[in-house]
Amino acid sequence: MAADRLHTRCMSQTEYFLSPISESDAEALRAGGGPAYTADEAPGYPCRRCLKDAEVGDDLILVSHDPFGSQSKYRSASPIFLHRRSCTPDPGVGELPAQLTRRRLSVRSFDQSEMMIDAAVIDGQDLEETILGFFGESQSHRIHVHNAERGCWAVNVDRVRSLT
Ligand SMILES: [Zn+2]
Repeated sequence: MAADRLHTRCMSQTEYFLSPISESDAEALRAGGGPAYTADEAPGYPCRRCLKDAEVGDDLILVSHDPFGSQSKYRSASPIFLHRRSCTPDPGVGELPAQLTRRRLSVRSFDQSEMMIDAAVIDGQDLEETILGFFGESQSHRIHVHNAERGCWAVNVDRVRSLT
């Protein structure tokens, strides 16, 4: 599981990691099939496994993914693009992916019971500030990030620990 998580900088007292769709879930969705696309512009086709925008000419598939892990009342499947072939996120520390920071985002904070406790629509440039603000609320356990315009789920953000 650790390989599926992307650690980010520790900008303050809260450390967090990005959780894209897991390799096994992505492979199952690829195997299940769906509408095929070839990227004809970039950016424009964000792959939610490797967290990169497809390059022009890349083959993708449109599938539906439920980012919740329980019976949350907020549970819903969301349309996402995946590269047609297996891909992996770049591991390790780094900036938030450009596929997030260049878009308008809907950011939703959930407690451990996966009940929504806060939400905001933001410019992607403000994502880190928003994550840290939401995780500043003690009951905030996980954040879901969606593309604000089309509603596509982008990534989950999990709190590693709070030092406060
Ligand atoms: Zn990809």
